[in-house]
Parts: sequence; C-alpha cells; structure tokens
Amino acid sequence: MRILFVTSEAFPLIKTGGLADVSGSLPAALRTMGEDVRLLIPGYRPVLDKLSNSRILIEMQWLPIVGNVTLIAGEMPDTGVPVIAIACTMLYERDGSPYLDAKGREWVDNPLRFGILSRVAAILGSQDSPLTDWIPDIVHFNDWQGGLTPAFMRHSQAACAKTVLSIHNLAFQGNCAEEWVEKLGLPPAAYHVEGLEYFGQLSFLKAGVFYADSITTVSPTYAQEIQTEEFGFGMQGLLSSRSTDIHGILNGIDTREWNPAIDPHLAYPYDAEHLEQKSLVKQALQHRLGLSQDADAPLLGVVSRLANQKGLDLLLECADSLLAQGCQIALLGGGEPLLEHGFWRLSLNHPQQVSVNVGYNEPLSHQIMAGADMFIMPSRFEPCGLNQMYGLRYGTPPVVRRTGGLADSVCDTNAANLKDGSATGFTFGLADSPSLLECIQRAVEYYHNKPVWKLIQQNGMARDLGWDQSAREYRDIYRSLLEEDKGLGTRN
Ligand code: ADP
Repeated sequence: MRILFVTSEAFPLIKTGGLADVSGSLPAALRTMGEDVRLLIPGYRPVLDKLSNSRILIEMQWLPIVGNVTLIAGEMPDTGVPVIAIACTMLYERDGSPYLDAKGREWVDNPLRFGILSRVAAILGSQDSPLTDWIPDIVHFNDWQGGLTPAFMRHSQAACAKTVLSIHNLAFQGNCAEEWVEKLGLPPAAYHVEGLEYFGQLSFLKAGVFYADSITTVSPTYAQEIQTEEFGFGMQGLLSSRSTDIHGILNGIDTREWNPAIDPHLAYPYDAEHLEQKSLVKQALQHRLGLSQDADAPLLGVVSRLANQKGLDLLLECADSLLAQGCQIALLGGGEPLLEHGFWRLSLNHPQQVSVNVGYNEPLSHQIMAGADMFIMPSRFEPCGLNQMYGLRYGTPPVVRRTGGLADSVCDTNAANLKDGSATGFTFGLADSPSLLECIQRAVEYYHNKPVWKLIQQNGMARDLGWDQSAREYRDIYRSLLEEDKGLGTRN
C-alpha cells in the first residue's frame, strides 16, 4: 500500500511532544513491514536542515493566499523513511515552536499554515496530484493540523485516497474564525453543522472527525473516554455517532532511541540484569542537578509539558509532605507560568531535594528517565502518554493516574499482581493530591523493599513496548478501507 502520513512534527526533525515520537516511529515500522510510506511535513527550518539527501521535487501552484510552495523530497536521517517537506518561507521559517511564538502565543496565521498542510495533503492524495508516479491509497493525517485534508478531498472533483485521522489529543482542535473557510478555498456551503462548523467557528479537528473515512486514537481507553462528556471537549456527540469507525491503538515506543543499554546520554548503561548500574546513573544525576548524594532517597522524576492536563499542580500540593518524608524531585518541563513559578519556588526552598529545569532538553530527559527511582504522571487525561512507557523500559516504575493510555500501559502493584508477574507500577483513581500522595507513599514503601522493587522494575523492563503489534493494527485498518473501495494508487 502507498500511504501518505501527514504530520506537523516528527522526531528527530522537529519535536514538541508525543506526536513527533509517533511520526518518527510508526511510518518506519510500517515500512519495515513492506508498506510504501511517505511523510508529509511543513518545511520548518530545522526540518529542511536535518533532512538527508534533500532535493527539490516540484513546485506546487494555485494554493490559497501563498500562491506557490516548493515540495522538497528527502529522507528521515535515522530510518530513511521518505519525506516530502513543504517549503514556504513566509509560513514555516521563523523562530519559535511550530505552533507558538517566542511569547507562547499561537501564531495568528496558524489556520493558513496548517490549512496549506491539509490542502497539499489533499492534492497529493488525489488524481490531480502533480506527483503522478506516486499517488497514495491512504492519506493518514494526524490531529487538527491535518484536519482539513478530507474536507478538501470531499469538495474536490477528483477521485481521492481513503483517509484515516489519528487523534493524539482532543484538547487541541484548531478552531478559528469563519472567514478562514473562504480564505482557504473551502466552499461556504460546507460551513454547516454537517460539515466544518463547530460552535460558531471553523474547526480543523471537527472537520477531520466528520469527513475522515476512519478514525483512530492512541489508546483503547481514550477511544472510549472521548465519547463521554468528561473527556469529549464538546465533540462527544459527533464522536459517538462515529463510534463504529473509531479504533483505539496504543502507541508503541522507539525501542532503539529509548534503550538504557545503549543510550548515549547515559554514562552508565544498564539492562534488567545489571540494575546496580542504574544506581550510578542516579548518583550522576543527583550530582549534575545539585541534589544531595543520598542513594536511598526516593528520587521522583518528571519530564512533561507543564499544562493543566498533566496534573502536576497535584504534585506541587503534596510536595511538602513528600519532601518531609525524604523524597527528592527532579523536574524537566515548561509551559504554564504559574506551574513553572510554583516548582521554581519549591526548588529555591529545598535546593538539595528539588531540581527544576525549565525548557526542552533531550539528553536530560533521558538522564532523568534513567536516574529517577520512579516516574510521576498524575494526568487529568492522557490520550496515550509515552513517558510512562519510557519509565517501564528504564526500570523506573511509573506512578500514574488511571486514565487513557496510562490505564492501558501500567499495571498496579498489589499482592496478586506481584504473584502473577504483571505488576509494573502504581496507579490511582481520583485526580486530587491526597490520592496522588497516597499512591506515591505506597510506591515508596515498596521501593524500600529492594527484592520486590527489583521484581517490579524487571516486570516493566520485560514488557514488549515496540511498534510491531500497533503497526499491524494500523495496517489492518488501511486494508479494510481499501477492501471497501480499491485505492486510487491500485486503480492507476
Ligand atoms: P504530550 O505529547 O502530551 O506532551 P507524551 O508523554 O505523549 O506527552 O510525550 C511527551 C514527549 O515529549 C516525550 O517523549 C517526552 O520525553 C518529551 N518531553 C516533554 N517535555 C520535554 C522536555 N522539557 N524536554 C525534553 N523532552 C520532553
């Protein structure tokens, strides 16, 4: 099958969160299985700089507002997956993150930036594509940034590929003013509840949910949750109406990038049989972060966006109790100023017990994952979550709230689960600080029982967290769509 995988970020080209990790690994896994996958991504400066073997592919004309863009062909530097980058200086080459300016505000022209991404995806996925020798059977687009892809297809005259939407986080919807409908070249008649309109705005994600042939999300539990009022962010009705087309597929992780035995960011590599080396990593981390060199102090790791979703305010609320009981905290992340400030204050008051690094830091994220004793994720909601899986792989048992992908990937520790070898971490139910505190205290008790702790670590490290199974599930979805209707590429 020919699959065009449309994404707004992909590791190692550019990354703000889990979507980049998935976009870096899923296409590679599909390719290993023999599928012909190409990635379509905006040509941000780091993308153009990091692409291997890049060359101009074609000039694309007649796009809304911008007129022309240049498609650049290249390859992912590590996996060799073919990439098509959309080069357009005015849209994509600027300082700041892919979505936000230096002050953390959304770029005002995001509807245009990602409207063009969707438009280009729709053209490449149709018989009007200028790339006549490679027309996909499937266009698999991700999150709101690609959301208009099937809308453009539905309103084009040409025959088009089948479409799959993957929702990585329903909280981000790409809602904008109605005027963008015409500006982006969509028919005004489609601005309707049975189409693009969502509570008085154009919604990229709603359009994706409405028009996509199939919808996936990144864990089975989240697939159910998004159809409820509590987690549906207003889209639960529409999503429920499409429930037979919604599939929950747990993300895998990149097991080469995240492997404590060969991790170049660690001075002391280790595996499940050599966990004593992990204590050396902890020692080095404590030293680097200025924490007291106490081998027995339970070190709690956090690597996260600091956003309400992640529930880290709950950790702040119970931090004093945890510190009084001898715990240490190593936090890496950034986001909401109130949370950044709260953790800063905590570290100023307890410099030997709390380390806070604000910003994005790939090596440090690996060192915390390896050097911490347990990894804390008290998320209010979590579509999949990757860090808890990295924690499992690094022998750093996760302490997580039982929601979304956290519920699907971490198995609580109790007598029965220890006996049958399924215990891999610690879970709690209510999103409040007493529940989190109780759960961490329970984990700390086990932590001081070294033989049992080692079992929990080894259970997690033995879990198969790679992409094989999930990639097969995606392939099954593509195949079933093409069985309904022979894909375009196949027809040609
Ligand atoms: P989300 O996509 O909601 O932010 P995930 O757990 O799915 O959360 O993925 C987050 C990814 O981003 C992980 O790979 C994590 O290690 C990484 N990450 C988050 N914040 C930072 C940071 N400040 N520095 C380095 N990596 C980070």
